[in-house]
Amino acid sequence: MHLSIVVPCMNEEASIPALVERLSQVVAPWRTQAEIILVDDGSTDATWEEIERARATCPNLVGLRLSANRGHQVALTAGLEAARGERIFMLDADLQDPPELLPDMMSMMDRGYDVVYGQRARREGETAFKRATAHVFYRALNAMSDVDIPRDTGDFRLVSRRALDAVLAMPERARFVRGMFAWAGFRQIGLAYTRSAREAGETKYPLRKMVRLATDAMTAFSTKPLRLATRLSFLSLAVAGLMMVYVLYSLVVYQTAPGWASIVLAIAAFSGVQLLTLGILGEYVGRLYLEAKGRPLYFVDEDTRAGAERAAADL
Ligand code: UDP
Ligand code: MG
Repeated sequence: MHLSIVVPCMNEEASIPALVERLSQVVAPWRTQAEIILVDDGSTDATWEEIERARATCPNLVGLRLSANRGHQVALTAGLEAARGERIFMLDADLQDPPELLPDMMSMMDRGYDVVYGQRARREGETAFKRATAHVFYRALNAMSDVDIPRDTGDFRLVSRRALDAVLAMPERARFVRGMFAWAGFRQIGLAYTRSAREAGETKYPLRKMVRLATDAMTAFSTKPLRLATRLSFLSLAVAGLMMVYVLYSLVVYQTAPGWASIVLAIAAFSGVQLLTLGILGEYVGRLYLEAKGRPLYFVDEDTRAGAERAAADL
């Protein structure tokens, strides 16, 4: 198998027909040497039915249905584990990332690169809020982490078998796939492109999931937030020192100490700092706990490839 294409899909019934149509044109040059793996991430709409229907027209198609919704990054991981190709291409189901870029990425890989990632030069049809938060996120992540994670890149990329095997060898449960590829190393290069608007349906990344992805990324690729506690403690000590001088001064000079307002402010400020650092600590401890449990990332409910192979064996 030369090429695997992996697409996580959650409630994408409206996007699947156009997706399969465009992907089958893109893989046409490789014919039987290519597979398109659509991972149904516990959809509640007709995504799986659409995948099954599309298999009739596109023989390269493999459907993988997870037992429940596990999130974009885990669905992607499931598809990557199922991929058998020498080169693996991943993109979103909503066609925001143009599959037609594959030949360009292929020729860059021919020049010896292991990872060719799409870099968003422009984003169309996304809210100003989404663009602003994404902009800040990629820069903050880079400032925090010891790994150089390319800015403005999603999971849209072409990777070699050895780069993929490196990432699949990482056992962590909190998966931030683009960061894991950056960490894996090998030769990497970006390809600038314009990210278009969603083809159909609406975003599956509400603010809640965006925050989760961001905290997963931060905690998985940096321990700097933990050091924040030490820094804040020095800052609070300095402030406390100044307050002490002030209180002693007014005791000596005016024979009285200032009243409750300063006490209330001090308690509020210092307990705020304590809760913040406790919260940061909690984020790491909670993730340690999840990693320690070592549960499987996902279960496969249905796999059309297994079904097809069984049928072939019966013949
Ligand atoms: N997705 C998924 N599981 C989820 C959320 C999203 O498999 O729990 C898929 C979704 O179907 C799409 C991709 O992840 O193929 C990216 O999601 P989306 O396009 O909604 O994100 P956005 O482009 O708005 O950041
Ligand atoms: Mg999208």
